Amino acid sequence: MTVAERTGTVSHFIGGDEVPSASGRTFPAIDPSTGAEIAQVAFGEAEDVDRAVAAGRAAFESGAWSRAAPGHRATVLRRLADLIRADAERIGRIESMDTGKPIAQATAEVNVAADFVTYFAGHAELPNGRTYPADAGYFVYTVREPYGVVGAISPWNYPFLLACWKTAPALAVGNSVVLKMAEQTPLSTAELGRLTLEAGMPAGVFNVVHGDGPTTGAALVAHPQVKKLTFTGSTATGQAILRSAADHIKSVHLELGGKTPNIVFGDADMEQAIAGSLFTAFYNTGQICTSGSRLLVQRKDSDRVIEAFVERARGIRVGDPGDSTSQLGPLVSEEQFQRVTGYIEEGRRGGARLALGGGRPQVPVAGGYYVEPTIFVDVTPDMRIAREEIFGPVLSVLTFDDEDEAVRIANDVMYGLAATIWTTDLGRAFRVAQKIDAGIIWTNCPHYLPVNVPYEGHKMSGLGEDLGVEALQTFTHLKTHCVNFNGARMAWA
Ligand code: ADP
Repeated sequence: MTVAERTGTVSHFIGGDEVPSASGRTFPAIDPSTGAEIAQVAFGEAEDVDRAVAAGRAAFESGAWSRAAPGHRATVLRRLADLIRADAERIGRIESMDTGKPIAQATAEVNVAADFVTYFAGHAELPNGRTYPADAGYFVYTVREPYGVVGAISPWNYPFLLACWKTAPALAVGNSVVLKMAEQTPLSTAELGRLTLEAGMPAGVFNVVHGDGPTTGAALVAHPQVKKLTFTGSTATGQAILRSAADHIKSVHLELGGKTPNIVFGDADMEQAIAGSLFTAFYNTGQICTSGSRLLVQRKDSDRVIEAFVERARGIRVGDPGDSTSQLGPLVSEEQFQRVTGYIEEGRRGGARLALGGGRPQVPVAGGYYVEPTIFVDVTPDMRIAREEIFGPVLSVLTFDDEDEAVRIANDVMYGLAATIWTTDLGRAFRVAQKIDAGIIWTNCPHYLPVNVPYEGHKMSGLGEDLGVEALQTFTHLKTHCVNFNGARMAWA
């Protein structure tokens, strides 16, 4: 049973209840594999956001969660993880329908989301704070305290996974959360609210408000009672959020765009490099901020490597997300389809040569937002397709002569999220990793991102640390307590 079948329309989740918008306004959820409407979803406006934040604030002040024993919060979150696992197939089906992700991939992501919740449950019980050397008779210590209400704004490329990724650490350390999912993919996360209650989380601690960016998202960002924001999405929206947050000096955590260089050196294990490069370029239809969307190949080997790569890319199975043999589904929305095909046009106009794809693939159902795996060669670093984030299955291949040139090209974009290096020369791996200005570098292992490993976007790709024990810092602020315990008086006047 889908959310829409269960509730008629998909509601907000506020204060433990599924509620419509105060205005009654809704918007459609679309299946991107057909373009058909699959549900109506409540559209949150400032009044709805205000209700959700008030519920979060009241829950926070009650202390039922924020001051609960850390072991209790950990237990509830572990129970939540188990409930997600038990429901993974159903949530995965909803996710697949709403995003266009192949079904096996969507279900796997729900299970990964559960693992994230399990991991972050442990954050509730981590050591917190320090003591500092002080004068005789003084005792100084710090504690990291939850902010209160955290506003979480999430994109559409990994809806359920990112909802858990962003909110579990915030919840573990005692915050309340108001989550706004991307308007393109609201359905899977609508399931999460009910599960938090079933797990034993007090009503009002976890809230979801649906709606678009300029209305719903902006209201959440501007709300004075939201003390911390965590956002994953485009750099332009991140900039808008940062500007708005200045009004109340809010703490902001941003995970933004990327144009990840995937550098194949001549000494790489080519079989491994080609398989891995294919994965990082096209997995999730290229809709990942760390997608290896720029393939940098050493010039002396480029013909051979590119030919082998294009041949392998021809074998990618594009098809209906509900078919378990599909590897690549459609793009998430009509808007994204227009954007990606616009970039393909731009690549052609700009003088790059199409080595593969560039059009719509043959798929059984008409009307979906499918784009073929597309490879441009003869790309130069100044072209827009080599500089801007496309967020689709479109790869730009560039060539370089030596390490220095590879590093120069890799760094010559405004982003600095991730980079992949393919080499069997250990010295080269460390040298190049040191020179690349990016938050996470992968040698021979793109997208290796276990939940206990932190990272942070450099340049225009982000602000603040994500994952790992570092998330504890992200979702708490510091309080310092200086105690004079021997009655010493201040010697003044
Ligand atoms: P995209 O352009 O790929 O859709 P965005 O960064 O615009 O990516 O969207 C990511 C999330 O940010 C979505 O949940 C969207 O609704 C939200 N969003 C967009 N604009 C704003 C804004 N001005 N303020 C707050 N949230 C926004």
